[in-house]
Amino acid sequence: VKDKGRNSYHFFDHTMNETVLNKFALENDLRKAIEQDQLELYFQPKINPLSGDIVGAEVLLRWKHPHRGMVSPVTFIPVAEESGFIVELGAWVLKRACEINREWQSRGMPIVPLAINLSAANFRHHDLLPDIRRTLEDLKLQPNFLVIELTEGILMNDVDETIQTLQALKDMGVYLSVDDFGTGYSSLNYLKRFPLDELKIDRSFVKDIISDPNDAAITAAIIGLAQNLKLSVVAEGVETTEQADFLLRRGCNTMQGYLFAKPMPQEDFEQMLMSGINM
Ligand code: C2E
Ligand code: CA
Ligand code: CA
Ligand code: CA
Repeated sequence: VKDKGRNSYHFFDHTMNETVLNKFALENDLRKAIEQDQLELYFQPKINPLSGDIVGAEVLLRWKHPHRGMVSPVTFIPVAEESGFIVELGAWVLKRACEINREWQSRGMPIVPLAINLSAANFRHHDLLPDIRRTLEDLKLQPNFLVIELTEGILMNDVDETIQTLQALKDMGVYLSVDDFGTGYSSLNYLKRFPLDELKIDRSFVKDIISDPNDAAITAAIIGLAQNLKLSVVAEGVETTEQADFLLRRGCNTMQGYLFAKPMPQEDFEQMLMSGINM
């Protein structure tokens, strides 16, 4: 796809200027993306490899830009976070994910929890709790079909306030997961005090569990930690059967990764759900 947005700034040949302008253009475009229906939710199944069951799915945002083509969330989420637009974006993802889950239930499809990613600004926003409560009520959706993925960085910032928010979500019945676990700064002491349900082992550890004894040790330790704290544990970025076998032997039996399925559009995931859950 031709990059028209960038061509219009060609008279600036300095790379930094272009980067700044590019980001500014992206930020402007992003504000239009919701109205113009350019955003889409993709779904990546979480699998139990022993039974072949789909036990849930992570919701991942996709942006089909009219000129740039698919823009990765790795590019536009940081732009949205910096501009504050992430607040609207997060609210949109929450609502869409819950609407889709409601639709599936109405159609009598197999029901799986959907996990959404929250940025710090989403988690700290005063509308978060009322928004979630209202969305679940309006759609008559069971709260345990909503999983919230938060990073360690978000959790460790202002611990007392974090505990309050987590407890309120927990009281609502929402399922709480720590994303990219092990990559951020987390105090094991606080981890114990947070009312959490799940740890997600980051892909960076899973990637080399077969070749790197340190990554293998860290991964095994995270699984042990989760078990001792009575938390579920999910491995992300599982790409090979060797990795899956290692994880299973260590007691982690929920996995997400290209070995099973890449993130996919709604219709494809629906077909997967309908084709009798087993993969
Ligand atoms: P994440 O939350 O850690 O999501 C997992 C990322 O790993 C996804 O990238 C997924 O496509 C990718 N992935 C899954 N399995 C594999 C695998 O086996 N191998 C490899 N190489 N990659 C795998 P994606 O979709 O590009 O999203 C990137 C990041 O963007 C996410 O990382 C998350 O931090 C952020 N993001 C995506 N959607 C949202 C959203 O709605 N809100 C917020 N705040 N952040 C989002
Ligand atoms: Ca995530
Ligand atoms: Ca992750
Ligand atoms: Ca990650």
